Amino acid sequence: MKVDDERVLSDDGLENRALSFLADRRRRSRTQGALVWGEGDDGAVAIWDDPDPDVERAELDVARTYRRARFDAGLGWLDGPVEHGGAGLSAASQRRFAALEAQFDTPSQAFFKLDRVLTPILLRYADPEIARQHVRGLFRGDVIGCELFSEPGAGSDLASLTTKAVLDGDTWIVDGQKVWTSDAHYADIGLALCRTESQVSGRKGLTAFLVDMRQPGVEVRPLRQITGGSSFNEVFLTGVRVPDSHRIGARGQGWEVAQETLKIERTAIGVGMGRGGAGVANGERLVALVRSLGLENDPIVRQRLAEVVMAFRAAKHLQHVTSARRRAGDNPTASPLLAKLTLSNNLRLASRFVTDLLGPRLAADTGEWGTFAWNQFVLGEPGMHIMAGTDEVVHNMIGEQVLGLPREPRPQS
Ligand SMILES: Cc1cc2nc3c(=O)[nH]c(=O)nc-3n(C[C@H](O)[C@H](O)[C@H](O)COP(=O)(O)OP(=O)(O)OC[C@H]3O[C@@H](n4cnc5c(N)ncnc54)[C@H](O)[C@@H]3O)c2cc1C
Repeated sequence: MKVDDERVLSDDGLENRALSFLADRRRRSRTQGALVWGEGDDGAVAIWDDPDPDVERAELDVARTYRRARFDAGLGWLDGPVEHGGAGLSAASQRRFAALEAQFDTPSQAFFKLDRVLTPILLRYADPEIARQHVRGLFRGDVIGCELFSEPGAGSDLASLTTKAVLDGDTWIVDGQKVWTSDAHYADIGLALCRTESQVSGRKGLTAFLVDMRQPGVEVRPLRQITGGSSFNEVFLTGVRVPDSHRIGARGQGWEVAQETLKIERTAIGVGMGRGGAGVANGERLVALVRSLGLENDPIVRQRLAEVVMAFRAAKHLQHVTSARRRAGDNPTASPLLAKLTLSNNLRLASRFVTDLLGPRLAADTGEWGTFAWNQFVLGEPGMHIMAGTDEVVHNMIGEQVLGLPREPRPQS
C-alpha cells in the first residue's frame, strides 16, 4: 500500500486517538524533559533487564495487558499490513506514535522485542496460514518469540550445529541442545535451526522450524549471567514434535533464514541506539555524572566526554541515513553490520569512560544516586560484542561481503 506520509502525520484523528488512548490509561511521564540529578530511575543505565523471576512475571503481565489494549485500539502496529492486524500506515506514523508514547509512563515492551525480527521472516518464509496466526499474536502480546540458533559447539560457526530434525510422516522429530537462548523462559515460540540432511554437511543441510516452546520435550534451564540476572537459557529438545506446516522455508534453506533473521536483528540493535539507558546515547546522563563529580572543568574528562557524545551522535546520524535509504527502497548490506559494530564500539567507549570516572564506586554500593548503578552498564557491555554475531565475525563479514576481500580461513569440518 502506498502511503502519503504528509497526510498521515497531519492526521489529527490519529494523533487525538493516540493521545486519548494514552491519557486514559497511563500517567504522564515524570522523567520527561531534562534529567534532574538524583531524581528518577537510578538503574536506567542497565543494558540488560535483570529482574528476579517473580518481578519479571508480574512485569510481563502488566506489559501484556497494555500491549493487548493498544493493539485492540488499532495502535499496536501502525505500519503493519491491514490483513495481519496492522493499520497500514507509514513508518513515520509509527515513529510519531512512539514519540507520543514516550511522554507517558508505559510498561517496558522489551519482552516482545522479537516482534519486528520474526514478523518479516514469517511473512517471507512461513506457510501463509502459520504466518497469519503468529504475526498478529506477536504484535498483540499473545505470542512471545525466541531464537534457537546457538549450540554449545556452534556459535560463530553456526553451520556446524548438530540439533537434528528427522521427518516422521508429516511431523519432524527434533533432538538436541541450544544455548544462550534469550527470553526462552517466557517464550511461546522459538525459531529453531536444525540439521535435516544427514548426507550434507555445513550450511546446506540446515532447515528452520517454528517450535512450540510449551510442548512436552522442551526443557528450559536458566543461565546466570555476570550482572546477576538470568535472561539466557539452555534449551534441551528431546523428541520434540514439529508439524511440517511449521517448517520455515524449504528443506535446506535454514541457513538463509538464519542469516536474514540476524540481519534484521542487527539493524534493530542499531536502531535501538538508546539501549544502554536513558540519556546515555544522547550524553545527557554522562554530562550529569561528570557535573555531579565536579569534573566539568577537567580538560581530559571534557575531551573524553566529547568523544563519547560525538560517537553516539554519529551513530544516530548513520541510523537516520540508513532509515532514509530503506524508505527509498534500498536494502544495503553494510548498514546492519555497521549498526551492530557502531553500537558495541560506542558502549565500550562509554563503559571505559565511566569506569575511569567512578573507579571503586562501581564495585561497592555507597548508596550514592547515579554511581553504583553504572555497574550494570559496565558488566553488561561485553555481551553486546557477542550477541547477533561477535564483533570479530562481523568484521570478517564486512571484509568479505562489503569490501570484497579474500575469504577468511574457515574451521575444517
Ligand atoms: C546478549 C546475548 C544474547 C544472545 N541471545 C541469543 C539468542 O537469543 N539465541 C541464540 O541462538 N544465541 C544467542 N546468543 C549467542 C550468540 O549468538 C553466540 O554467543 C555468538 O554467536 C558467539 O558464539 P560462541 O559463544 O559459541 O563463541 P565462539 O563461536 O566459540 O567464539 C569465541 C571467540 O572466537 C571468535 N571467533 C570465532 N570464529 C571466528 C572467526 N572465523 N574469525 C575471527 N574470530 C572468530 C569469536 O569472535 C569469539 O571472540 C546470545 C549471546 C549474547 C551475548
